[in-house]
Amino acid sequence: MIKALGSHVSLKAPEFFLGSVKEALSYGSTAFMFYTGAPQNTRRLPLDRLMIEGGLSLWKENGMDNANLVVHAPYIINLAYRKDPENYEYAKSFLLEEIRRTSAFKAKILVLHPGSHKGEGPEEGIASLVSALDEVLENDGTDVRIAIETMAGKGNEIGRNLEEVASILNLAKHKERLGVCLDSCHLNDAGYDLRDKEAFIAKIEETIGLDKVLVIHLNDSKNPIASHKDRHENIGYGSLGYDVLLSIAQDRRFEGIPKILETPWVNEKPPYEQEIKMLQSGSYIDSWRESL
Ligand code: FE
Ligand code: FE
Ligand code: ZN
Repeated sequence: MIKALGSHVSLKAPEFFLGSVKEALSYGSTAFMFYTGAPQNTRRLPLDRLMIEGGLSLWKENGMDNANLVVHAPYIINLAYRKDPENYEYAKSFLLEEIRRTSAFKAKILVLHPGSHKGEGPEEGIASLVSALDEVLENDGTDVRIAIETMAGKGNEIGRNLEEVASILNLAKHKERLGVCLDSCHLNDAGYDLRDKEAFIAKIEETIGLDKVLVIHLNDSKNPIASHKDRHENIGYGSLGYDVLLSIAQDRRFEGIPKILETPWVNEKPPYEQEIKMLQSGSYIDSWRESL
């Protein structure tokens, strides 16, 4: 059995976090990831309206572990560009509050996109992000860890390879509070060949270190290796394929790490119950998407 496997779930009215837990359990999940509000904006409701207690009780009643709860920061906050001070300050204060919200949900991991340098170059982008992380992690007063996500390398994204992610971790002051989120679609699109798993894991050891991997985003990719695109695909329908993703999910070295599906919905329906079932059973169902 794969220990901590689930998907991204919604958090919305009327049941908010209680609804997120119900959704995750309905897919047969043992882990899940959520945004504390809409992923594309920074409007957030007060915590006392989000039914956190109810959700946590239900998660616990079902024998689940809070270590497998993951929050994703909204992808519009950009900490890699400090030449617009107003935006940069806003992004820092939002991140600080987001870390505290994460902690209020009893989650210990917050996934963060490293951001865009907007033409200033990766070195400046990394310096800008590191400075923001140093400041925020000095002041948040929690033990939440930030997992920097590996990116596909579109546009001016930083974190487009493992070396860039490693340099963020190495330059930051609060190293014990930082780790990495490996996204299989992004890694494929960035140019890493996940079919050669041992070579890939050797690369991880060489750059960030296996102990820094805090989360895995398990997605197939619509595009070939090194396409720098970032379009997620359902398990078995993309260029990675079921066997490659299963092998990562089952790998002992990633055993306790939450593995989160962020694959697209099919005909307005979530595919996660089927995808989780196929990964947990170890057997693929041909054309499974047709019967959704
Ligand atoms: Fe992400
Ligand atoms: Fe991702
Ligand atoms: Zn993506």
